[in-house]
Amino acid sequence: MKSYAPEPFVNFADETVRTQFDHELQHVLQKLDRTYPLVIGGREIYTDAQCVSYNPANLSQVIGRVSQATRAHVDEAFQNAAETFKTWSRKSAEQRALYLFKAATIIRRRKHEFSSWLLLEAGKTRPEADADTAECIDFLEYYGRQILTLAERGKETLVPYAGEDNQLHYIPLGVGVVIPPWNFPLAIMAGMTAASIVAGNTVLLKPASQTPVIAYKFLEVLKEAGLPDGVVNFVPGDVLEIGDYLVDHKMTRFISFTGSQRIGMRIYERASKVHDGQIWLKRVIAEMGGKDAIIVDADADLDAAAQAIVASAFNFSGQKCSACSRAIVHEAVYDDVLARVIERTKNLSVGNPSDPASIVGPVIDQKAYDKIQSYIELGKTEGRLVCGGTQTATPGYFVNPTIFADVAPNARISREEVFGPFLAFTKASSFTEAIEFANQTEFGLTGSVFTRNRDHIEEARATFHVGNLYFNRKSTGALVGVHPFGGFNMSGTDSKAGGPDYLMLFTQPKLSSEVL
Ligand code: NAP
Repeated sequence: MKSYAPEPFVNFADETVRTQFDHELQHVLQKLDRTYPLVIGGREIYTDAQCVSYNPANLSQVIGRVSQATRAHVDEAFQNAAETFKTWSRKSAEQRALYLFKAATIIRRRKHEFSSWLLLEAGKTRPEADADTAECIDFLEYYGRQILTLAERGKETLVPYAGEDNQLHYIPLGVGVVIPPWNFPLAIMAGMTAASIVAGNTVLLKPASQTPVIAYKFLEVLKEAGLPDGVVNFVPGDVLEIGDYLVDHKMTRFISFTGSQRIGMRIYERASKVHDGQIWLKRVIAEMGGKDAIIVDADADLDAAAQAIVASAFNFSGQKCSACSRAIVHEAVYDDVLARVIERTKNLSVGNPSDPASIVGPVIDQKAYDKIQSYIELGKTEGRLVCGGTQTATPGYFVNPTIFADVAPNARISREEVFGPFLAFTKASSFTEAIEFANQTEFGLTGSVFTRNRDHIEEARATFHVGNLYFNRKSTGALVGVHPFGGFNMSGTDSKAGGPDYLMLFTQPKLSSEVL
């Protein structure tokens, strides 16, 4: 087996690649507005109730209509997953890993097709969609290898003891519930699912309501890869009907959640209650929001800093948990950096990602659009509007990249996650003060520092309290296996997805000791 390396991104500067992509996009456009079932134990179930998924860049375009699970369907899925667990959990790590490798191969072969779905259902530009697809492949390849390492680790790490054979077995937990967000609707959804099942668990997958079609497409791949029925049960549904029900269910052994702080806290709290018939404490893996800062020091490469701030703040319309939503800049270079960032931002073209010239696509839905508009109004009272803040004429949920200057570190727009193309600039009188400002939120996900000062690098390494700290580069773009991802405090349980310890969270170590 080849060693793991991240999937290369495709080069859209190459005309052949562009032609191939456009061809695939046309192909996917022919498949819009189809109806998709629930999948429970391999059985496809179509329901009258449907969730309609729209293109956020073009609301007249229906991506698909997805069946909606009731509580009775959830019960059925739990029964099925529990029954399947009996056989799936007994398969070897090698056997389980093989399904992930096959799925990775299939998605690699259909890369542009998956990226086209991401473009249409999530509003990603071509490079953003390609990065999502590449990350999905990475998770499959990486976790497939990691489970083999984990199986070996259990045999090798114990202290030898004369006359005994001692082993640690990382056995699976049971039936899990996977609840992903819409912003990396392929990569994160697939990564959370793949980690769960390769560790030997079976799951109920409830996709985000904005992006259920992509999740279904992933399910098709698992089927094509030969994954046994019942290992992944697909239960999209209205959270008012099945959200709490999935979390509270006595058969739920673990919940793998990625999403907002509000829902993460709700799940964490509810999961702590032991229900009648439940004989375990539920495990919760909850990765939540961020309020990520890029600090620019007095001696930094200002152009590199400005470029990184703009990319981190406005790529995918700022809808990344790792997005830079605060630029905290030393007073000696504050005006200069602000001017450079504004200039670069004004050159970003906002528009439908179907047009390759668009750099900033839409935000995901009306709720997100309204929330961002309300923060723009708040920003006008907490800072100086220097860019954007205006409506676009484009149909769809488009928001012009917006920058507020001279924002206090304790302002609400400095502390609360907006999750849109929205950036607050704050002036600091020293490097140490910049780090103090950066730490003044309840989150702790990513952070980036631009400096040439070695002492300041070490100071930030020790005191900037974030799970992913970067120097002289953007705050986004973590690569699987290279930059394990997860944050502190209200950013979640710091599970470090895409890292060597992640799969442990989906297992429980069992010791066996045999007298020889
Ligand atoms: P969200 O509103 O919290 O939703 C996340 C998931 O939870 C969705 O599948 C949603 O289903 C489901 N959900 C909602 N209410 C629920 C309930 N009561 N019980 C069970 N499930 C429930 O978050 P989002 O808007 O999809 O995602 C954006 C957020 O995710 C941002 O805060 C971002 O920072 C965070 N995020 C974090 C990371 C990380 O690694 N730390 C990565 C990506 C995103 P419905 O769609 O049906 O409501």
